Amino acid sequence: MSNKRQKRAAEFIAPFRVRPGSKVTLGKDFDPAFKAGVRKKKDGVALLKRGVRLLAEYQSRLAAQDTWGVLVVLQAMDTAGKDGTIRHVMSGVNPQGVAVHSFKVPSAEELGHDYLWRYAQRLPARGEIGIFNRSHYEEVLVVRVHPENLDRQKLPAEAKHGDVWKRRYREINDWERYLTENGIRVVKLFLNLSKEEQRARLLRRIDLPDHNWKFSSADVAERERWDDYQQAFSEVLSHTSTEWAPWYVIPADRKWFGRIGAGAVIVNALMEIDPRYPPVGKRQHRALLEVKAELEAQAPKHAAADPFEEEQRDGEAQDATRGSDRTDEQVDGPSAGPATDS
Ligand code: AMP
Ligand code: MG
Repeated sequence: MSNKRQKRAAEFIAPFRVRPGSKVTLGKDFDPAFKAGVRKKKDGVALLKRGVRLLAEYQSRLAAQDTWGVLVVLQAMDTAGKDGTIRHVMSGVNPQGVAVHSFKVPSAEELGHDYLWRYAQRLPARGEIGIFNRSHYEEVLVVRVHPENLDRQKLPAEAKHGDVWKRRYREINDWERYLTENGIRVVKLFLNLSKEEQRARLLRRIDLPDHNWKFSSADVAERERWDDYQQAFSEVLSHTSTEWAPWYVIPADRKWFGRIGAGAVIVNALMEIDPRYPPVGKRQHRALLEVKAELEAQAPKHAAADPFEEEQRDGEAQDATRGSDRTDEQVDGPSAGPATDS
């Protein structure tokens, strides 16, 4: 994959990255309506399409290499578009290589364990992409905004003393560091929605009969705690954006932009991993050719010795007569680099 493409992806996502150690105040530091120079939705849709194709290509190599796993952590306020982002960004990926897990209010069994237990159970294996729709970060978000959740966790007194949240930030950072050092890359996305856009989206869920099922009065109750959540998110971003697992704050007031932003961060992580199809050694190659000769010898009378090879040769011949106008993109896979001119 070209360096130029990776550079473009890295530049595109740079404004979203939370610099480790920096202090974040959400309302002040990140604009939910930012468009990064992509002017129109139409341009954005084309970009997303390219990103999706690229993601599929990388996912296939990730699986073949079977060394790294990728954990995508998605956090956001209600209606910010977590589900739609998963649906769109992962639309081109082989379902066998991806697992999505949505975390809800913990069950009695889950409350019987330490708080990271249920998340650890759902981690992706090597070669897989795992998506956490909500995640271990709820343990320092909803649990903090509604401390009765903490009471339900049956913690020993010591674990409730002092600054519980600072301790949890440290524990989460340590856990993510452990994962990263052991081949599970952690990609963290916060879909950043404005309060006004949330109001509009909640109304839309009421106004459109087909969307009524999505409306939850719990979302309206949580909205009442908007400022507390913004504060809790700001602290999470300030304390848990690390060199090994930085946060990306994705502008989400425009759904189409949120999807491109999220897709670009995931693609960029895969580009950094740069998974490769396992190489075939000389001896293995020779063995393959021996089997090939055997299979060719089994060809019935009027069949081609190797139909696939024949097909390929015909394709190449056709390309040559057409005066091959195939672009770099078609040959080398699409470019993720969300360039503004495409
Ligand atoms: P939804 O994602 O809309 O289906 O809602 C899931 C609900 O589960 C949200 O209201 C979350 O705040 C809640 N939730 C997720 N994780 C936890 C947790 N660890 N403790 C308490 N509530 C949680
Ligand atoms: Mg909800």
